[in-house]
Amino acid sequence: MAKTPQPQKRLLESFTIKGLKGPIKIKLGDYVLLMAPDPSKKPYVARVEEIEGSGAQDANVKFRVRWYYRPEESIGGRQPFHGSKEVFLSDHYDQQSVDSIEGKCYVHNFQDYIKLQTIGAEDFFCRFKYKSATGSFIPDRATVFCKCEMPYNPDDLMVECEDCADWFHPSCVNLTNKEAKKLDHFYCEDCIAQNRKKLQKCNGNTSQSKGKCYKLLEPEGAATWDDALRKGVQEFQLRSYSLFTCNCHSFVANNLNRLFYSGHDKWNVVSLAAVMFLRGRWVSTASMVKTFLPFVLVLTIGTLLGGMTFLIGLVAFAAVMTGWFLVGTYCIKSLVEL
Ligand SMILES: [Zn+2]
Ligand SMILES: [Zn+2]
Repeated sequence: MAKTPQPQKRLLESFTIKGLKGPIKIKLGDYVLLMAPDPSKKPYVARVEEIEGSGAQDANVKFRVRWYYRPEESIGGRQPFHGSKEVFLSDHYDQQSVDSIEGKCYVHNFQDYIKLQTIGAEDFFCRFKYKSATGSFIPDRATVFCKCEMPYNPDDLMVECEDCADWFHPSCVNLTNKEAKKLDHFYCEDCIAQNRKKLQKCNGNTSQSKGKCYKLLEPEGAATWDDALRKGVQEFQLRSYSLFTCNCHSFVANNLNRLFYSGHDKWNVVSLAAVMFLRGRWVSTASMVKTFLPFVLVLTIGTLLGGMTFLIGLVAFAAVMTGWFLVGTYCIKSLVEL
């Protein structure tokens, strides 16, 4: 019987290598990690494009790969928006021998990568193609976010504005990452300013009722006193209380400004105290007693024990406090927080 001659080379669908933890089957289209010539460097990432076997039972296997470049291997180098697991699909192909393979990996598309619950050492992502000769990228532009106008780096924490849906780096909006993680809601400066403007316009128009004006403060048009209070609480929970610079009056003034109470947002601790003093009404007799009883007690005991000295001290203390808040509100603007 005539013997059919074995073809010298043939294309294969897969091949198996001896991995550290047992055999690994590598198929066409799989992503692989290839040893870098310098062992201190990270392994190269590539996709298997063609597998060629030769010799008896395909004993010798060679394969063609398409390289993925890491940002530092690109002409422009690594940019701040490049993720640590980012690679670019290049137009650079090579033939490699089986023993250069370290193992398999996975190159996700960007959308899938950001949805991964856990990111393993073998997970990479690719959002750009790269031309190795010219150093150019496809696409040559990416959507930018934040005030710094940077493409998204999935390694960085970002917070989303609930109004304009833009994303912001905490550091770009004066927040620490810890503070940003604690936020339940976030609105960017522009959206807050925009809402204030709308509100001012509305207040200038006398045919609109104030109730409607309050509603403009919220992107969903559902503002209530409670919403304003909730946002105020959210803002103030990150601050530390201080009788002199950030006290309960600051908190109330902040909320009145948020609500554009009385048609303006110029409320401060002094105007609030004045309104309370001149226009405030007691909610009950008990509340009046609760307010004045401690003061009357201290005044009586103080006067009995200290006489005139106590009274002079008390008046001086009141004068210094009043002076402090007047200066802190009208002269040195940032002294008393709002
Ligand atoms: Zn930014
Ligand atoms: Zn916004």
